[in-house]
Amino acid sequence: MQADYAIIGGGIVGLSVAWGLLGRGHKVIVIDGEDGAFRASRGNFGLVWVQSKGMTQPRYAEWSQGSAAAWAGYAAELAEETGRDIPLDQRGGLDLHFSDETLEKTVAQYETLKSKLGGNYPYEILRGNALRREEPHLGPKVAAAILHHQDGHTNPLRLLVALADGVRKRGGRVVNGRRVVEAAKPDGFRLTCDDGTVIEAGKVVVTAGLGAAQIGPQLGFKAPVRPQRGQVLITEKLPKMINRPSLIARQVDEGGIQIGATNEEVGHDDRVTTPGVAHLAAEAVAAYPFLARAQLVRSWAALRILTPDGLPIYQQSREMPGAYLVTCHSGITLSAAHARFLPEWLDATEAAPNLEVFSEDRFTL
Ligand SMILES: Cc1cc2nc3c(=O)[nH]c(=O)nc-3n(C[C@H](O)[C@H](O)[C@H](O)COP(=O)(O)OP(=O)(O)OC[C@H]3O[C@@H](n4cnc5c(N)ncnc54)[C@H](O)[C@@H]3O)c2cc1C
Repeated sequence: MQADYAIIGGGIVGLSVAWGLLGRGHKVIVIDGEDGAFRASRGNFGLVWVQSKGMTQPRYAEWSQGSAAAWAGYAAELAEETGRDIPLDQRGGLDLHFSDETLEKTVAQYETLKSKLGGNYPYEILRGNALRREEPHLGPKVAAAILHHQDGHTNPLRLLVALADGVRKRGGRVVNGRRVVEAAKPDGFRLTCDDGTVIEAGKVVVTAGLGAAQIGPQLGFKAPVRPQRGQVLITEKLPKMINRPSLIARQVDEGGIQIGATNEEVGHDDRVTTPGVAHLAAEAVAAYPFLARAQLVRSWAALRILTPDGLPIYQQSREMPGAYLVTCHSGITLSAAHARFLPEWLDATEAAPNLEVFSEDRFTL
C-alpha cells in the first residue's frame, strides 16, 4: 500500500487531519489500532471549548479560538459531504462557581489573558436573577457563572462517524484493526503493521493518542504523553432543562444529561469507580438539584492524552524529516483547526499557521 501521507491513529485527531489532507488532493491512508486500544475519541465530553484554555500560553488560546470560529463552517461542509448531521450549539458555555473566591481568582486570570489577546476574550459574569433567567434550573448553591461567548458543544460520536465516512468519501483509505509496530525511513517511509502489512508513504503523521509513546520514538520523537482518567455519567433522556453546557454538565442533543468528568492520575486504568461516580453526582446535584431525581443510564471512563504542560504538540521530526507528531488534549475543540489549518502546516505552504510554541523541544527528558 502506498500513499502521500500515512496517518498512524484513526481517532478524532487522525481523521480530522486526514480529511483535511484529502481536501488538498493528497492520497491518504489511515491506520487505526485494534479494538481494545485506548480511544479518547469515543469517551469524551463533546465540548468545543475556549474558556480557560491558554492561561499560560496565549497562542493556545488563539489556536482554540480559531478552531471554535471555524467549527460551524467545518461541520456544515462535513455534513454536506457525508449526509450526516453533526449537532453543534455555540451559544456560549458556563463556568459555574460555588463561591465568590474561586470566581474572582478565575476572572483575574481571564483579565490577564484578555489583555494579552488584545481584548478578544468575550465573557461576562452572571449572578442572581440574570443567571437564573439563563439557567432556571440552577440550584441556590451556585453563586455565579462566567458565560464565555466562544464556547459550545457537539455530539462527538456523530462527529467521529461523519469523519470516518468523510475520509472514505474523499477517497482516503482507513485500515482498521492493525497497529503500526515498526517505522523506518530507508528512502520514503516504510511502516510495518502487527499483521505484516507494509505501508509506504512520502510523509507520516503520528496521531496515535497514548500509542504515540510507543511508536513515536522510532520516528525520532520524545512523545511525552501520559494518560489521565476521566469518568462520565449520562442520565435518561429529559425535556430541555439545561440551556448551555458547563464543565459540570451538559444536555446532549438527544436529551440525556452528561455529567463529568473526573481528572485522575491513575495510569492506564480506565475503570469506573464508585468514589469517582459519587463525586460527579454530588457536584452535579449541587449545581442542578433536579438531577437528584434523574435516572442514570450509563457511566464510563476514558483516558485523556496529556503532555507535561497540557498544551498540544505539533512537531516535525529532526531525525526523520517528513514525520510529524500531532497530539492534544482537546481533540474535539481542535478538530476544525486540524482539518482546516494543520494541513497547510504539514504541506509547508505560505498559509501555514505558526506552531513553533507547540514544538516538543520545550520538554527536556
Ligand atoms: C473524559 C474525557 C472528556 C473529554 N472531553 C473533551 C471535551 O469536552 N472537548 C474536547 O475538545 N476534548 C475532550 N477530551 C479530549 C479528546 O477526547 C481527545 O483530545 C481526543 O479524543 C484525542 O483524540 P486522538 O485521536 O488523539 O486519540 P484517540 O481517540 O485515543 O485515538 C488514538 C488512536 O490511535 C490508535 N493507535 C495507537 N497506536 C497505534 C499504532 N501504533 N498503530 C495504529 N494505530 C494506533 C488507537 O487505536 C486509537 O484509535 C476528553 C477526553 C476524555 C477522556
